[in-house]
Amino acid sequence: MQTQTSVYLDHAATTPLSEAARAAMEPFLGERYGNASSVHAAGREARKAVDEARERVAVALGARPDEIVFTSGGTEADNLALKGAAWHGREQGRDRVVVSAIEHHAILDPARWLARQGSRVAEVGVDASGVVRVDALEAATDDRTAVVSVMWANNEIGTVQPVAACAAAARAAGAVFHTDAVQAFPWIEVDAREADLLSISAHKIGGPKGVGALMVRRGVKVQPLLHGGGQERDVRSGTYNVAGIVGFGAAVESWVARRAVQSERAAALRDRLQATLSAALPGIRPSTGDAVRLPNNLHVCIEGVDGDSLILLLDAAGIAASQGSACSSGAAEPSHVLAAMGVSRSSARGALRLTLGPETTASDVDAAADAVVAAVARLRAR
Ligand code: PLP
Repeated sequence: MQTQTSVYLDHAATTPLSEAARAAMEPFLGERYGNASSVHAAGREARKAVDEARERVAVALGARPDEIVFTSGGTEADNLALKGAAWHGREQGRDRVVVSAIEHHAILDPARWLARQGSRVAEVGVDASGVVRVDALEAATDDRTAVVSVMWANNEIGTVQPVAACAAAARAAGAVFHTDAVQAFPWIEVDAREADLLSISAHKIGGPKGVGALMVRRGVKVQPLLHGGGQERDVRSGTYNVAGIVGFGAAVESWVARRAVQSERAAALRDRLQATLSAALPGIRPSTGDAVRLPNNLHVCIEGVDGDSLILLLDAAGIAASQGSACSSGAAEPSHVLAAMGVSRSSARGALRLTLGPETTASDVDAAADAVVAAVARLRAR
């Protein structure tokens, strides 16, 4: 099937594979097929490539190479962090888990699963801008808490969360602090020292899909999800996805070197898009109010339109956009993030998320704005 998209504004869902990643991966999809755990030359060559990638990811996060655990993506990193820390905590008499109500499903669903397995789980609310209530988080965290997890930035609305304050609350109670930095890492500087456990994903930064990492601070214990060959210091067994990991390392290096410039550029284009839309559609404002948000994210709720229909009309016009989480699009239920912010069901129906990327141009955002305005007029006339 030929893809008809001419303007791609869904970079929070995924990004195109960068040239740096593609070139780095190619030999490992072909002649360099060794298993990184083998002792012979082909294995050593693969191991060296994995270790170089590990070094690159560690440098970008301000972590040590031996603190990086490669996973199959952000979802696995989140599951490993939450379940792994909760299981370890239980052995220490800590049976509580605290998460924010606006976490990605890769945290919320394991938290709810842990609750069914006997953990006591608190889901801490957010204010109307989508910022976690630190006072409520402090109140929910005590000396029975094993792990606290608050995302660095939200995937739907883009709000940047007060991770330092959340980490301080967790540590004051002797709990482990995890942050899901899958969406923050591409756009803002992420310092691993803020957390005990931190998740990132390759495909949000021009890397391949199906690879990610969990930073596990030295001395922090997590029970593995996967048992087997003992790879990744026994924290994550499974034959190394060498090509994927190598692509991840190359993507991290090339993306992070340009991140500050890309972020500034994206913010200017996002502001232009926002200004054009609010001039043409009075009443439109970012769902996050004045809260700090990711520079490439514009999230609005458009009254009187059905978001799903809007996305389809935009798609027909060659514009790739989203209602919010890629994982829950198509679901009849309104976004749990907007619900936690107190957005009404009818407003949440009109949610539109436009997320820019490094290649987005001024003519892209102008074309997208025109298409949104035309589609909204059509939907309101129905
Ligand atoms: N966490 C957040 C905040 C995300 O946005 C995503 C993906 O959209 C994930 C976790 C899952 O990452 P992956 O797609 O690598 O499994």
